[in-house]
Amino acid sequence: MRVAICGIHIESSTFTPYRSSADDFAVRRGADLRDRYPFLTAGAPLAEAAEWLPLLHARALPGGPVVAGDYAAWKREILDGLLASGPVDGVLLDLHGAMSVEGLDDAEGDLARAVREAVGPDAVLSAAMDLHGNVSEQLFDACDLLTCYRTAPHVDVWETRERAARNLLEVLAAGRPVHRALVHVPVLLPGEKTSTRTEPAASLYASLAELEARAGLRDAAIYMGFPWADEPRCAAAVVVTGEDGAEVSTAALALGERLWAARHDFAFVAPARSLEDAVGEALDAGEGPFFVSDSGDNPGAGGTGDTTAALAAFLRAPAVRSAERSVLIASLVDPATVARARELGVGAHGTFRVGGRIDARPPGPVELDAEVRHVLDDGEGGATAVLRSGGLDVVVTSRRTQYASAAMFERAGVPLGTHDVVVVKMGYLEPDLYAVQRGSVIALTTGGVDQDLPRLGHRRIRRPMVPFDDDAPRPCAVRTRTTRVAEAPAARRPEPVPGMPGPGTA
Ligand SMILES: [Zn+2]
Repeated sequence: MRVAICGIHIESSTFTPYRSSADDFAVRRGADLRDRYPFLTAGAPLAEAAEWLPLLHARALPGGPVVAGDYAAWKREILDGLLASGPVDGVLLDLHGAMSVEGLDDAEGDLARAVREAVGPDAVLSAAMDLHGNVSEQLFDACDLLTCYRTAPHVDVWETRERAARNLLEVLAAGRPVHRALVHVPVLLPGEKTSTRTEPAASLYASLAELEARAGLRDAAIYMGFPWADEPRCAAAVVVTGEDGAEVSTAALALGERLWAARHDFAFVAPARSLEDAVGEALDAGEGPFFVSDSGDNPGAGGTGDTTAALAAFLRAPAVRSAERSVLIASLVDPATVARARELGVGAHGTFRVGGRIDARPPGPVELDAEVRHVLDDGEGGATAVLRSGGLDVVVTSRRTQYASAAMFERAGVPLGTHDVVVVKMGYLEPDLYAVQRGSVIALTTGGVDQDLPRLGHRRIRRPMVPFDDDAPRPCAVRTRTTRVAEAPAARRPEPVPGMPGPGTA
């Protein structure tokens, strides 16, 4: 079996002034792309079960809509690669599901449809996605198999991609029809309310394994959808695939209804506060670190990473000015400030204007009389400086990034645990931060990924939709498609491999 691998992975807010371009992406091709997948390392069962054709994969930190020409160039390269590869039996589409492209409403659907046209109707397309992705009718129709993560924060990304690859090979090997069903659910919520750390998402996602164990069902996926784009496709969805068409439809509708029934039960994963209240609570808290999520500008969802409301608010606090309380802000992107800090050198004092250059919403650039504490070159944030003013340390980077791991804080010379309060541009806390927190709040700041969704002014999503409307009706439409998988010639059938059922046993 010959299976191509390709995809583009980004989450784009359409409410940010930022445009994501080729400079923001890491692009992998050929052997370098194959090395991305732990389950394709030499000797791994899946590695040997097919001839893998790694074409192109582009991945970026969440941002804004992708520049149209950059998307078009990668799409062209993928299609040319498919053409040059000759006939393929399958394609593993490694996607996010919430990419926006300038002038295009359904980027992943556009890409999948083009791939489908390039490989013809007989190849099997399997999409591995983020649960914050959307499933448009176009994407659903173009792919034979679709699945997504089952944890948020996402700790099962490789498991998910491996499952998508395994499903693909099993379906090809079985040579029997496979059915899929899509149910859109009129709910669109921020990830901070649908984390699998809390109910009702924990139980919903936990139920998928049990569903899959039923005869005739292969895979079940719950997509929460992406709330920070104003596109008609943005909504929650469930997708079920399997060999028993009737069971697949019944299970998809039941799962969609279960998600809908929980629609009013989703709540923030941590206490949510106005910025002012978050500052007060953080500075009054006992032993740290106490985390404040500057959630409206979370670059992990598409925020610019340079709004300054939180910086200004902590700077005003007397306990911070007097250094009675220590506060770390990580991070803001501002290459000009980093350049000036490096010019002055470690230990020097200066007046800086920090942040507010990409997203200039009030208060805009903040004036900071500060000492340059550290300068460094970091892979993710590029040239970086740490500035100190009173009890406040601010990490300033030259590239958009997110301080999400303990290692990043250590590299910047500000390890977690050395400040009473840590302010992060994030929503729910990523695992390393969650593990050391002694308390946390989500500050409902404004920005490109505002948690207060109705404040953003969506105009193009389907309505009614919770929480934009008080309520929305129970989902009742099931979209179904069937793939007639060609019986694989015996010569092309894989030998049974450990951990993977042989032909006909899936
Ligand atoms: Zn996600």
